[in-house]
Amino acid sequence: MNPLNPPKRLLMGPGPSMVAPRVYAAMAKPIVGYLDPYCLEIIGDIQQMLRVAFGTKNEFTIPVSGTGSAGMEAAVANFTEPGAKVAVFANGFFSDRLTEMARRQGGNVVRFEKPWGEVYGDAEAGDFIRREKPQVVAYVQAETSTGAFQGGKAICQAAHDAGALVIADCVTSLGGMPVEVDATGIDIAYSCSQKGLSCPPGLSPLTVSPRAWAWLEKRSAPMQSWYLDLRLLDTYFRGHKYHHTISISLLYALREGLALAIEEGMEARWERHRRNHLAFVAAIEKMGLRMHVAEPKNRLWTLQSPRVPAGVDDTKVRKRMLEVDGIEILGGFGQLAGQVFRIGLMGSSSTEENIALVLDSLQKAMQAETVAAGKG
Ligand code: PLP
Repeated sequence: MNPLNPPKRLLMGPGPSMVAPRVYAAMAKPIVGYLDPYCLEIIGDIQQMLRVAFGTKNEFTIPVSGTGSAGMEAAVANFTEPGAKVAVFANGFFSDRLTEMARRQGGNVVRFEKPWGEVYGDAEAGDFIRREKPQVVAYVQAETSTGAFQGGKAICQAAHDAGALVIADCVTSLGGMPVEVDATGIDIAYSCSQKGLSCPPGLSPLTVSPRAWAWLEKRSAPMQSWYLDLRLLDTYFRGHKYHHTISISLLYALREGLALAIEEGMEARWERHRRNHLAFVAAIEKMGLRMHVAEPKNRLWTLQSPRVPAGVDDTKVRKRMLEVDGIEILGGFGQLAGQVFRIGLMGSSSTEENIALVLDSLQKAMQAETVAAGKG
C-alpha cells in the first residue's frame, strides 16, 4: 500500500475550511474512554465555549455526533410531531433540506418562497407566521448556497406570539459571525465543526432553549430517531450514562477550535471576518464582478457569492484553480448553478493573505478560460 499522501489544498470554498494546526495536533493525542473523567471535562469545556460562540445561556448545548445535517435532523425530528404545521422560510438549498426533513417526520410544511439570495423583511415574515399559525418555524440564518444572512428577531417574535418554536440553521455563521441565539429568540440552533471553527467535519454543535426543552419533555408522540433523540442524548451529556461512543478525537479537535476562538475573543474574531469580507468585496468589484446578494447588509461575512461573468464557464475556472494553484472554491447549484462562485472566508482561513491568493488564482483562471474559449 502506498503511504497516505493527500494533496496540499487551500480550502477556500463553502466548507470544509482549513483546519488550524493546533486542531490537527489535538487529534493526534491519545484517546480516553467516553466516560473517563477527562472526556467529561473536555465536554464541559466545549459546552461552556459553545454557549459563548452561540450567544446563549442554554444549559442544553451539546456537540451532536455527525455533520451539520445531523444537527439539522436532530432539531427537526425532536420538535416536529406528526401532523404539526412547520413554516419554512424557503430561499435556498438548505431550507429545501429542512423542508424534506420536516416532511419525513410527518410535518405539514408550509413554505414562504423567495428567489435564492433574497431575504425576508420583518413585516412579511410576521404576516406569514400570523397567517399560518404553525407549531414550528424554521429558517436559515446563514444560507451557504446563496451567501445571504437572514436576521431572525421579527421571525422569533411572531413565532413566539403564535406559540411556535423556532429552529435556525447556523451552520455557516457560528465562529465567523454573531449568532446571538438568546438576543434573537432562537429556540433551537445547530451548526457544524468544519467552517467557522476550523475543525474537520464530524460534530454538530446544537443548543436548545429552556422553553423548547420544556416542550420536548412533554412531547407525546414517540421520537422516530433513536440516535438523535435529544432526551436520550441528555442521559449521556448530563447523566453520564452510555448512549453511544462519541468520537474523542473530534471532541479534542472541537475543544481546540473553540479555544482558538475564545482566545482571539469572539468580538475580535467577528470583526476579522467582517473586515476581510469587506476587503474581498472591494477587490472583487474592482475586478469587475458583482456580488449576488445585492444589499451589503444581507451578505454573509463567511461565504461570498460573486456572480460568474457572462460567457465564463465556472466549472473550468474552478478546475484550473484546483489543478494549477491547489485552491478549492465551489460554484452555485440548484437555482444558482453556473451563476455564482462560492468563496469561503471562514475561521482561520479568513486572512488578507488568503484573499490575495484566491483572487489572484481566480483572475488568472478566468483569463485562461477566456483565451481558451477564443473570447479574449
Ligand atoms: N446547513 C447549511 C446552511 C450548510 O451550509 C450545510 C453544509 O454546508 C448544512 C446545513 C449541512 O451540513 P453538513 O454538510 O455538514 O452535513
